Amino acid sequence: MHLLLPNPRGFCAGVRMAVDVIDQVIELFPGQTIFCYHEIVHNKHVVGRFQHNGVKFVEDLDEVPQGGIIVFSAHGISPAIRKQAADRKLTTIDATCPLVTKVHAEAIRYSRQGYQILLVGHKHHQEVIGTTGEAPDVTQVVESPDDIPNLRIHDASKLVYLTQTTLSTDDAGVIITALKAAFPQIKEPPSSDICYATTNRQHAVRQLAPHCDMVLVIGSRNSSNSVRLTEIAKNVGTDARLLDDASELDFAWFPTGKERVLITAGASAPEDLVADVCRALLTRFGGTIETADIMPEDVEFAAPGNLRKIMIERGIDPATRRFKIESPVVTQALYGAVPLTISAKP
Ligand code: SF4
Repeated sequence: MHLLLPNPRGFCAGVRMAVDVIDQVIELFPGQTIFCYHEIVHNKHVVGRFQHNGVKFVEDLDEVPQGGIIVFSAHGISPAIRKQAADRKLTTIDATCPLVTKVHAEAIRYSRQGYQILLVGHKHHQEVIGTTGEAPDVTQVVESPDDIPNLRIHDASKLVYLTQTTLSTDDAGVIITALKAAFPQIKEPPSSDICYATTNRQHAVRQLAPHCDMVLVIGSRNSSNSVRLTEIAKNVGTDARLLDDASELDFAWFPTGKERVLITAGASAPEDLVADVCRALLTRFGGTIETADIMPEDVEFAAPGNLRKIMIERGIDPATRRFKIESPVVTQALYGAVPLTISAKP
């Protein structure tokens, strides 16, 4: 079997930051229960590992005792949640990805300028709920071109579209084209709201999947960007499966055992889960691993301001706890006794 691992895959800068934030908060408040509003990132294993360390994930701030410690997830929150936290006198640490915050800022700015906002995204996704909450009276969510006839537009010359950060660039393109056809004067965001990590991971799959027999996407089913990677592989004509971990592998997917398999991971999936899947396949079928460097990434985000403030108050220099993203590297150490033949292809 030939396994192909694209770079980039897995953790993005926003997820790295959010995960590091919780680790840091656990260290800062020993013995205290740390609450997190919503899953810190949409990955069952990341959430499970934090639950194992005592972190409680809640969907309602009423579950957090007055004065408790709450971390807001990477997906962002609405001002109503922020106010509720303040009313309950909670210590808040905001792990919202700065690229989600950018979309919030656009929503605030355009609503103040009198625009109606058409937010392209998935209505029930946490990020879309948070962004909508910035300007609820003037924001409508567009999930598909079919929604366009039902939009309530007051002035077509004062319209702007924004998007969720983790959409398929292909699907979003179809919706945006339809919006522009229906409302030729619609304004665009200053730069794409679909984030660099989503774009790069999708680009890698689009480029490599046509040369493979199967694509495995490691990620959870509620991870928007992982689901999109699976869809993109299928759209280019390659069978694809989304799986949380190696326990969901079915060897019957590989009838010859000599298949060429692209293995990628959503932005919230840890690299050790990728290694587990590779190890399971190589143990069963034997074979080689090749890595393909498609797009270098060097984005990284600093710790959120309120966390830095608490660290300084406690005598910790935030510069010594740099939240750093590293490209996943395939090493023999990660693969134990499984013999590897690693080659790299640009
Ligand atoms: S996928 Fe993009 S928007 Fe979401 S956390 Fe990662 S970098 Fe931020």
